[in-house]
Amino acid sequence: MNELFDLYQEIILDHNRRPRNYRTLEEPTSSADGYNPICGDELKVYLKLDGDKIKDISFQGQGCAISKASASLMTVELKGKTLAEAEAGFKRFQEMLAEEVDQEVDFLDFGDLASLSGVRRFPARIKCATLAWHALEAAVQGQEEATTE
Ligand code: ZN
Repeated sequence: MNELFDLYQEIILDHNRRPRNYRTLEEPTSSADGYNPICGDELKVYLKLDGDKIKDISFQGQGCAISKASASLMTVELKGKTLAEAEAGFKRFQEMLAEEVDQEVDFLDFGDLASLSGVRRFPARIKCATLAWHALEAAVQGQEEATTE
């Protein structure tokens, strides 16, 4: 269990140090800002669609390690997926974070996103972990910003 926890930490630190898809998109289909006033996380998610498919997705912003790693992991997870798959992914991610802390989260079900399951121990940080997803949801719905409030 400790080894698993170390692995989770390793993934989060890696994505925080070298966030993937950390850039702006030229001519995005849409974009939206996400703001988490509790922690001060601010990020912007850019989305480029090809029909119903996420052709490209990126983000930029300032925030804590959790919010940044989560945004990075999200972009990796969702590139090439459909909007319906993205929506289902967000729902599953939220369900994962709502699980009891001692409930083990399976890498097979969640891939690297499982590394964020440790956030369940710190309920205040759940908003950091879901911020990028809320911003993505706002972008899909044509809103300019999302707040965790
Ligand atoms: Zn945060």
